[in-house]
Amino acid sequence: MKKASPILKAARWSVAAFLSVVMLCSCASNSSDSKVKVMLITGQSSKHHNWELSSALMEKYLAAVSQFEVTKVVSPAQGEDMSNFKPDFDGYDVVVLDYEGDAWTDATKSALESCVGGGGGMVSVHATNNAFGDWPGFNEMIGVGGWGGRTDDFGPKIHWFEGGMKLLQTPGSATHPAKHDFEVVTRAPEHPIMKGLPESWLHANDEIYSRLRGPAKNVTILATASADPDEIARATGNNEPMLMDIRYGKGRIFHTTLGHCNKNDDLNVKALNCVGFIVTLQRGTEWAATGAVTQAIPGDFPGSDAVSVR
Ligand code: ZN
Repeated sequence: MKKASPILKAARWSVAAFLSVVMLCSCASNSSDSKVKVMLITGQSSKHHNWELSSALMEKYLAAVSQFEVTKVVSPAQGEDMSNFKPDFDGYDVVVLDYEGDAWTDATKSALESCVGGGGGMVSVHATNNAFGDWPGFNEMIGVGGWGGRTDDFGPKIHWFEGGMKLLQTPGSATHPAKHDFEVVTRAPEHPIMKGLPESWLHANDEIYSRLRGPAKNVTILATASADPDEIARATGNNEPMLMDIRYGKGRIFHTTLGHCNKNDDLNVKALNCVGFIVTLQRGTEWAATGAVTQAIPGDFPGSDAVSVR
């Protein structure tokens, strides 16, 4: 075999180095423009939710951010063949999940793990944290979740207690009070997503997801909500996490438990048109993608005395 010249050896090494860099950056946008590339994945929800409606509103509000370029990816319908569902995460900065449905293939699951673990961003919205109970990597990425087989031995619950995040090992499965207006309290005012938001604000007609469980690793609680069990059924009385920052490998995840809509709702559904939901989704998506937030806080952001709905 002919011995390669030093120039050829160097060229081969350069190609190998280039390829390894491309592989490492497979989920981060490498285009020359400054747009944040957002992939919104949806397509399935349980009978309690309405993915067509929630994803339409999320797409509208994400696309309203001038620096975002949004691509919506719709999975096969519930019960259909998922073997060819292979979203291509290449070139995207952040994957926003509005998906509560059938399992993905192992290849698609590991592609998302590599994307986020390698430094990409992810956002989990409301009932997405009901999905994929038996996918360990997903549970690490969302920190905590509910339903979907998440039984009492699934991991700790987390809540805000006496000035910090505490783990709870006590029994009790996920629940939520009936939807109502409730106060969301900021717990990490210096976090880029939260910086400049009020200490508390009134969120419109939503479910307080409660007793979520999971690995709860690398979680920072950004905001909480609570309801009094003497006043409303199925309230826990705990300060339940509503907004969270989770780290997974080199990646950032923004987890919002807000954003309920059901089959009977329409485009005016309050929880998803609440300015508090919209703005935290927009800011959380930018932060997950880039680690910073450049968006100004709009003048119609709610205070603690009244809801603000668009
Ligand atoms: Zn819900």
